[in-house]
Amino acid sequence: MTATPEALLQSGAGAIAAAVREGKVRSRTMVEASFARAAEVDAGPSGLNCILSADLNGSLQLVESAPVGGALAGVPVVLKDNIATTMLSTSCGSKILEGYVSPYESTVARKLREAGAILVGKGNMDEFAMGSSTEFSAYGPARNPIDRTRVPGGSSGGSAASVAAGIVPIALGSETGGSVRQPAAFCGIVGVKPTYGRISRFGLVAFASSLDNIGVFGRTVDDAARAMEVVSGDDTANDATSAPLDAPALRTDSRDLTGVVIGRPKEYFPASLPTAMQAHCDRALDALRARGAEIRDVSLPHTDLALPVYYIIAPAECSANLARFDGVRYGLRVEGEGLRGMYEATRSRGFGAEVTRRILLGTYVLSAGYYDAYYRKAMDVRALIARDFTDVWASGVHALFTPTTAAPAFTIGAISDPYEMYLCDLFTVSANLAEVPAMSIPIGRVGGLPVGGQVIAPRFGEQVMFRIAYALESELGGAAHA
Ligand code: GLN
Repeated sequence: MTATPEALLQSGAGAIAAAVREGKVRSRTMVEASFARAAEVDAGPSGLNCILSADLNGSLQLVESAPVGGALAGVPVVLKDNIATTMLSTSCGSKILEGYVSPYESTVARKLREAGAILVGKGNMDEFAMGSSTEFSAYGPARNPIDRTRVPGGSSGGSAASVAAGIVPIALGSETGGSVRQPAAFCGIVGVKPTYGRISRFGLVAFASSLDNIGVFGRTVDDAARAMEVVSGDDTANDATSAPLDAPALRTDSRDLTGVVIGRPKEYFPASLPTAMQAHCDRALDALRARGAEIRDVSLPHTDLALPVYYIIAPAECSANLARFDGVRYGLRVEGEGLRGMYEATRSRGFGAEVTRRILLGTYVLSAGYYDAYYRKAMDVRALIARDFTDVWASGVHALFTPTTAAPAFTIGAISDPYEMYLCDLFTVSANLAEVPAMSIPIGRVGGLPVGGQVIAPRFGEQVMFRIAYALESELGGAAHA
């Protein structure tokens, strides 16, 4: 019996693409099923609000020219709203770019399209990807599909919620300090931050250029691997930071970790880590051992400096990148007295409170007299943080396992102190600072809410990272969601 489109949507990208290739279902039907699911869960006052823009006719038009033999044939996808697409607008969750339609397509959108995937919506996000909850979107907060009173995490919360709610099997987000892994953990799905340079950022609106990556979401490790295989790879012609390397093959049938050494960094398991979280991590580490891995205690001694360093470097780079939104070149323009008045009026009206805070912080740490004390020092410490990782790899460790976050999703509105929000990134920012790949995998539930475990690998070590993720997912089985 052929599966219904609704059932296929739940089964994932692999099942959809196979059914489309075999002629058992049409891409058009999958797109309609995706829109039907969105209509059920996304709209209304208690809806998920995970999609900022969508256009059924536009998506159906994309179907007409989509190849049906591709790796992601007929797979509906959501892209975070800071990734340029020509069909839908790219607002970055900000009023300053409301309704802005990019004149060109990002490399990842092109690659997905060429693989047969169909864009069905743009994901809600914290404004310009600054935040950890999607509450800082100018278009209202997104909700967590597991518990709608809670945040889906952020800043790629809309993309993560779209996947967790079954609107799409895979989605793209962006990561500067954890914005794919943390929402993946909060929504009970898989989220991958690649090595810096692995996925082209051509068409990603810049936040902090030395830290930004595009990342992928999937409900399973296999779907995340399929998406990674499609969007990774050399794009040096368009993005100077793209690595001149072909996309690695990440899908594997092996669930065996014999010979793999996995480090357990003590700094990620502080005494303050809630017992339930600790217990889930212990169970995950046992699962890795059961598959043949050796677990070794290691140390990344500069870990406690990662958050302060990140919150100097990221705002500094953001203040430079966001200078381009001046009312002249893009989006919103609010008239004021003279040119300076227009700049002030446009930027005051266009940017929300968190983005404004980051621009002010960034401008301060880059200003004359403070540059050496803050920005330069932060860059020096960043090098120490990166060296912690290379030292661990040099000792014969192949990858690390840590919690993705210390706690599950919090209630919408519960965190009002910006500093407390920054603490959400405690376990994720180091990977961005060190430019290493990392991914979050569901490892269980705390009080009914999903939590994630994080696998971190050496630069361009996505293959070993996925091998571990596949084994962990298969050994945990249903326990990953219990
Ligand atoms: N939460 C972090 C921040 O607000 C990370 C954001 C991100 O990865 N885009 O900067």
